[in-house]
Amino acid sequence: MGNGQLKSAYNLQHGVDSEYITWLTIGPQPTDTTTLIPFLKDAQEHLKFKYKNITADAGYESEENYLFLEANGQLSYIKTANYEISKTRKYKNDIGKIENMEYDVKKDIYTCRNGKKLGVDHIRHSKNKTGYVSEKTIYKCEDCNGCSYKSECIKGNNCKTPLEERTKTLQVAKIFLKHRKEDLDRILSEEGILFRTNRSIQAEGSFGDLKQDMQFRRYLSKGNANVLAESTLLAMARNINKLHNKIQNGRTGTHLFPIKSA
Ligand code: SF4
Repeated sequence: MGNGQLKSAYNLQHGVDSEYITWLTIGPQPTDTTTLIPFLKDAQEHLKFKYKNITADAGYESEENYLFLEANGQLSYIKTANYEISKTRKYKNDIGKIENMEYDVKKDIYTCRNGKKLGVDHIRHSKNKTGYVSEKTIYKCEDCNGCSYKSECIKGNNCKTPLEERTKTLQVAKIFLKHRKEDLDRILSEEGILFRTNRSIQAEGSFGDLKQDMQFRRYLSKGNANVLAESTLLAMARNINKLHNKIQNGRTGTHLFPIKSA
């Protein structure tokens, strides 16, 4: 799945299978995260089947999306939003992050660089714009007094309380992290790498074809229904070009580009 960067107030989303655009939606949603669920529901309703594996870029990662896919019997292959940054030295050396603290699963306690325990303080629920309620577990350090790691560990320079008086807290979205971990295992698998490579070639390629090959830069019409019709016609024309291209190259019946070995 991918999104279009066409000069427009409309957010065009393409679902691509075997290099063909198999579904598309037009929406006003400013971000990609909230487009995934309506897109998949719409596709499923009209196509009368559902895709088992859903590959999408980091902009589509959310707890709500993970739970939807799981409940819908689909597997996520979503690049995690922290994928690139989590590989940096700065991230790995950030002692204030839960990833860099020891965690005792049985006791549900983190241990910080200073050897102090951070246990559960309270649970917080918050509702997002789509109405989804997420849960965060707030952990609090038993004693941050006089800690020499404090300036490295406690972030948030806008806080009015002086650093000396502050106590480290952690906000942990357990459900999200569990799903992110499972997703990460999938995207790092051989199959996941194949899907992700193909997502960038095929989904991004579908927009590249519209912009470069077909020279499509701007919608001629206005209004959701008209823009949807225009996008559908474009997708059909592009799919015919793709079919022609695949016939010419003897590639009909192929679904995924193989990974080139070094
Ligand atoms: S500031 Fe608190 S949580 Fe952070 S290292 Fe020091 S004692 Fe531990």
